[in-house]
Amino acid sequence: MPTPLPTDLSRARADFPILARSVGRGEGKPLVYLDNAATTQKPLAVIETVDRFYRHENANIHRGVHYLSMHATDAYDRARERVARAIGAGDPAEVVFTRGATEAINLVASSFAGDRFQPGDEIVLTVMEHHANIVPWQLLAGRRGLVLKWAPVTDSGEIDPDAFRRCFSPRTRLAAFTQVSNALGTVNPVDEMVRIAREHGAHVLIDGAQGVPHGQIEVARLGADFYTFSGHKVCGPDGIGVLWGRRELLDAMPPYQGGGDMIERVSIDGTTFRRSPERFEAGTPNISGAIGLGAAFDYLDGLGWDAIRRHEHELLCEATARLQEIDGLRVLGPSQPGSKVAVISFTMDSAHPHDIGTILDTEGVAIRAGHHCAQPLMQHFGIAGTARASFAFYNNRDDIDRLVAGLTKVKKFFG
Ligand code: PMP
Repeated sequence: MPTPLPTDLSRARADFPILARSVGRGEGKPLVYLDNAATTQKPLAVIETVDRFYRHENANIHRGVHYLSMHATDAYDRARERVARAIGAGDPAEVVFTRGATEAINLVASSFAGDRFQPGDEIVLTVMEHHANIVPWQLLAGRRGLVLKWAPVTDSGEIDPDAFRRCFSPRTRLAAFTQVSNALGTVNPVDEMVRIAREHGAHVLIDGAQGVPHGQIEVARLGADFYTFSGHKVCGPDGIGVLWGRRELLDAMPPYQGGGDMIERVSIDGTTFRRSPERFEAGTPNISGAIGLGAAFDYLDGLGWDAIRRHEHELLCEATARLQEIDGLRVLGPSQPGSKVAVISFTMDSAHPHDIGTILDTEGVAIRAGHHCAQPLMQHFGIAGTARASFAFYNNRDDIDRLVAGLTKVKKFFG
């Protein structure tokens, strides 16, 4: 048994049934799951909540007068309140349920920016964005004649606030940037970035897909106009995510999609719409997903965010030190663990990232290899991709040992 880290959260590990399985051929190898930036595993509390919903509570919401429908409606509304509390939103009506971060960003691009921005207006993005926070703006820019300005990253994969500031002009209408880089783990100075955008009179969208899993969020305090994230990266179900927006902005935005539940009144002459959040939730939403997301926040709150942060930080420090001992292995991103979350993106002199991923897989170690949906960032570093080990609070020292042993095998194989 390896010695546990001082901040051990091993009791949490037992809450995740999948972590007890083996993977691979034959009897396989016990799973070491280090692909948490792509999606986290789900605790029993979430699995059982979704299971209970379908076994005992399933009905469509809002339209029914029968017991189950009212019960399901109540559970869905409570999930919204729960999520609002979890992210520090003052008003549950500011929490719009979406399919995920991607849909939330597309909603803002379409309904907020698409409706207001004029040809020649500018949007500031950063080179480290996930494609989900690039492509919607490129599509919109193509349709509306907008100009995209790209804040560069430094050699250590960080945003230089001065360089960010230089991207703004009197034509800047919006800055959209990630709180935490999915590819490098960099924690961006979002307070300062919001301040810079505000000084230039620009609106702000923060992509929180990689921020929410690593610490408690206070959206109201961040000072942005919009904040987006996905449930599946924070121990919740997939197919559910959140757009948080300022109420006055949401209520002034036209609907994103039309359909049932988002209307006040429909006649053959036209339709009037409800306010946020219903205005943006046309059709039957992901009811069990929203309820499961509420359960995920209950679970994480129960563990305690301080404990989660401390444990992940220990994992990051120890894993970084161990990986840096491997000859020819280069870690990309900030050198100080204080400015990043527990994501380690690396290359090896002799092995392609996909080879690293494949050999680790034969050892039962799941990491991700490739461009991580951040091709502009990879282009900035002049590489096709990296290998990325991303940790969650349920990882432990044994996982680090197994990662290091796997990488030693890669070294032996490729020299
Ligand atoms: N932004 C960031 C920073 C991400 O890491 C991801 C997912 N990898 C997304 C947006 C998109 O999230 P989803 O695919 O869940 O919509």
